[in-house]
Amino acid sequence: MPELPEVETMARGLRPTLTGAKLGQVEVIDPKLLEGSGMSADRFVERVSESVVSHVGRRGKWLVWTLAGQRGLVVIQPRMTGGFWLIEPDRPHHVRILFPLPELGKTVWLTDARRLGRVLWFADQTQASAAFARSHGPDALEIERDDLAARLARTARGLKPTLMDQKVLAGIGNIYADEICFAARIHPEIPANTLSARQVDRLHAAISAILLRAIQAEGSSFDAGYRTVLGLEGGFLAENAMYGRGGQPCPGCGEPILKTRIAGLIGRPTYFCPICQPPPVPQTMRQR
Ligand SMILES: [Zn+2]
Repeated sequence: MPELPEVETMARGLRPTLTGAKLGQVEVIDPKLLEGSGMSADRFVERVSESVVSHVGRRGKWLVWTLAGQRGLVVIQPRMTGGFWLIEPDRPHHVRILFPLPELGKTVWLTDARRLGRVLWFADQTQASAAFARSHGPDALEIERDDLAARLARTARGLKPTLMDQKVLAGIGNIYADEICFAARIHPEIPANTLSARQVDRLHAAISAILLRAIQAEGSSFDAGYRTVLGLEGGFLAENAMYGRGGQPCPGCGEPILKTRIAGLIGRPTYFCPICQPPPVPQTMRQR
């Protein structure tokens, strides 16, 4: 599932080609991706075709194309299996929307095997920002330390599911949450509102450090899912510490990494080191 580093990699991959480029006649092959936009395929095509892309950005796990001349903003949420291809001339599988760039002789293919991704259109930045704010906290690369502390203090849920809650902060999913908890040396199940000030300091530093490293590696590919716009695999899982490494020696202490399931995330595995990330002190033993 694309998290912040994968969506940032998509933005960086598209930017050199798409910025300043004029779109031709957009073709919606699968209108299901427009569900939630309140817009028919015809309407979307009319709004977006023949416009010039002035900026390619990202907010949380949203990819944001700003169209010049007040033509609005296109927001793409890749969710599980959405992605982009910029390779010619082969047509990739599972193409859902085509964004032709006739002046460049290229096409941006929006692909999505499981069709869970969504494409929205907003009239202006204010509308797009309001829609984002309704379902998201600050972007994980932009959140201030004290804002993070205040948001964690509001919930007794475990740290890992809290980091993955897009309403707390936007962009982190299962893979990077494990890496961030390890980098900060904090147990993934510790109640978020029990972190000390020093633990919040470490966590805040770990969030940017891990996400920036993952962006450098162009994200994480662990199955046929995520690829860069050139069809390449992301390299982060070749250099990461925790995710997918159950039973291997911890890079911090050499003890075997545990693979487990934790409350709030039953469907997905959690990897952590029981030595470097000691378990939370039980309620009964805590000073009242
Ligand atoms: Zn360890």
